[in-house]
Amino acid sequence: VIRIRNLHKSYGQLEVLKGVDMTAPRGHVVSLIGSSGSGKSTLLRCCNLLEDSQDGEIEFEGEAVRWRGQGLNRHPADRAQVTRMRTNLSMVFQQFNLWSHMTILQNVMEAPVTVLKRDPAEVEQTARAYLAKVGIADKADAWPAQLSGGQQQRAAIARALCMEPRALLFDEPTSALDPELEQEVVKVIKALAEEGRTMILVTHDMKLAADVSDHVVFLHRGKIEEQGPPANLFGNPQTERLRGFLSATS
Ligand code: ATP
Ligand code: MG
Repeated sequence: VIRIRNLHKSYGQLEVLKGVDMTAPRGHVVSLIGSSGSGKSTLLRCCNLLEDSQDGEIEFEGEAVRWRGQGLNRHPADRAQVTRMRTNLSMVFQQFNLWSHMTILQNVMEAPVTVLKRDPAEVEQTARAYLAKVGIADKADAWPAQLSGGQQQRAAIARALCMEPRALLFDEPTSALDPELEQEVVKVIKALAEEGRTMILVTHDMKLAADVSDHVVFLHRGKIEEQGPPANLFGNPQTERLRGFLSATS
């Protein structure tokens, strides 16, 4: 379970998250939707401790990170916790962020070998299995620049999976892709959802959100305006703001 409580985040004077509470139960897919600038990426980055927050709490399977009016302390115990949280909650970005000087296989193997200190021979087997799973086993020795955008994003998903995370965080994984390539990635995300992986998915693709989510959260200017099962949110939105958002995106 990922549980976010009363999360506040500001950049200087700009208050981006104004007390967000949300839960992603184990095995569930929670989609996060909302206008540009509403704070979706910031929320995911806080979950993964890529950002400090000013107040609030992120709990993952019983382990909590709390902020109280200050940033995380950076003593070694905290750093170990940060590594643990990042390993458990693996993130996939909009711009796949593959290392251009490494082959696809090296990209997928990098973090398990260097961060988790796992045995390279074992990691290679795992990495190849995940590349096969996302349908690009034949690209293991290619360079990122030799792949299409859809293939690069599938490599980035294989890289996240190779950490054997307990949950996945996706930040608009399809929005940098042409519509044809988007579908390749959508297929992979749907397959992961069907396996019962815990996921938080930020997406502008309402059809994808409706298809894969157990729960949908609508964020508006740093606050949750409405949330519920996809059938309710998309079929029977309660707030004027969500109705406006949905009619603008369809
Ligand atoms: P989009 O749909 O465009 O990706 P978003 O919902 O993901 O939008 P965020 O990226 O979380 O929005 O940004 C929320 C607000 O925080 C925006 O006003 C943005 O300008 C601001 N912001 C984000 N990152 C920073 C930063 N590093 N420094 C200052 N302001 C930031
Ligand atoms: Mg964003």
